[in-house]
Amino acid sequence: MNIQRWCTPHLKKAKEEREYLHCFPELSYKEFETTNYIEQQLIQLGFVVERPLETGCVAIIEGDIISDRVVALRADIDALPIKEEGEAKADFFSTRPGIAHCCGHDAHTANLLGVARVLAKHTSHVSGKVLLIFQPGEETLPGGGRLLCETGYLQKYLIQQIFGLHTSPLHKVGTIATRVGELMAAPDEFQVIIHGVGGHAACPHDTIDPVVIAADCISAFQTVVSRSVDPTESAVVTVGRIEGGTAHNIIPETVQLWGTIRTFSSATAQLVEQRMHQICRGIAQAHDAEVSLIINKGYPAVINDEKATKKVISHAHNLFGSDKVLEMERPIMAGEDFSFYQRYFPGAFFFVGSGAQESDSTHVWHHPKYNVDPGFFETAMPLMVSLAIGGSDKAEKE
Ligand SMILES: [Zn+2]
Ligand SMILES: [Zn+2]
Repeated sequence: MNIQRWCTPHLKKAKEEREYLHCFPELSYKEFETTNYIEQQLIQLGFVVERPLETGCVAIIEGDIISDRVVALRADIDALPIKEEGEAKADFFSTRPGIAHCCGHDAHTANLLGVARVLAKHTSHVSGKVLLIFQPGEETLPGGGRLLCETGYLQKYLIQQIFGLHTSPLHKVGTIATRVGELMAAPDEFQVIIHGVGGHAACPHDTIDPVVIAADCISAFQTVVSRSVDPTESAVVTVGRIEGGTAHNIIPETVQLWGTIRTFSSATAQLVEQRMHQICRGIAQAHDAEVSLIINKGYPAVINDEKATKKVISHAHNLFGSDKVLEMERPIMAGEDFSFYQRYFPGAFFFVGSGAQESDSTHVWHHPKYNVDPGFFETAMPLMVSLAIGGSDKAEKE
């Protein structure tokens, strides 16, 4: 059994398919054309395809080897509200102004379709069931992963393990990277609305200046992580946007702040929220202003199951050699809604290197020039196929 050889005939198609999907990006929960395309491809392969949500779909592959084994592979299919840039993508630029695949979900989708084609030809090696999940809305709350899990649809399949991957510009083509336990942070969003009393900039004593109050809030938020969170825990509080005022000589009525909180444990998230509420209340009182803090809970942290992650690592070792597999020392603070599946099923998420200098593919996720080197498929496809059939996994045979 040579999985790489099985994949070779499908690599070119995956590259072309990714470029096709890249031309027609759709925003979260609006992936109707993308879903129709995926569904058509899967039906042509002879698979049963189900649509538990309005967009996105799930293919059910029955292996020839009878067993109660059920493995799920997940790809996300949505694009971002972003104006695309970049010479390297000139041949397959987004045709939709202000929407682009700048997170690599086009490549995830094309890769999983490639996996479907490989598995369709080799069902004699597939034991039990393999579910291919093409998930909508990864980029936008509440998260397609969450919605799908909340339908209860997946639970009826008694999935034993679920695997998901992401393109990674931080890692070279040909490599994979992951870790047991904490892999990606829980991203929560916050908004602060400061109501003061506006007036003439030359008469600050007749106003309650929300600009000054905003500055106090921003400074005080910096102490949440540095003074309240245990130094051995990871957390981030970032104010990313400030809005207020119209002219240099007017004290405005209101100022608003928007930002993100990143944590790994719910206890730390709770502590950060509690401190931020205290800070807002205290500053409001000190300035006799109204300061309200709204926190939108985002995705939970991606915490990788030990057995599933070790399986990814051992399969990658077997396929590509140990020098291509990086066990990450630290998690990253970006978020992913793969975490919702992990609440229900043991799961592992991993990064597949998509960075190569010549294809402009080392720009970070969500950059307008973000690009995926096609060498990504040579690693991503065999590894997903290998996890689907589970054949080379020693632990599984034991
Ligand atoms: Zn993204
Ligand atoms: Zn993404």
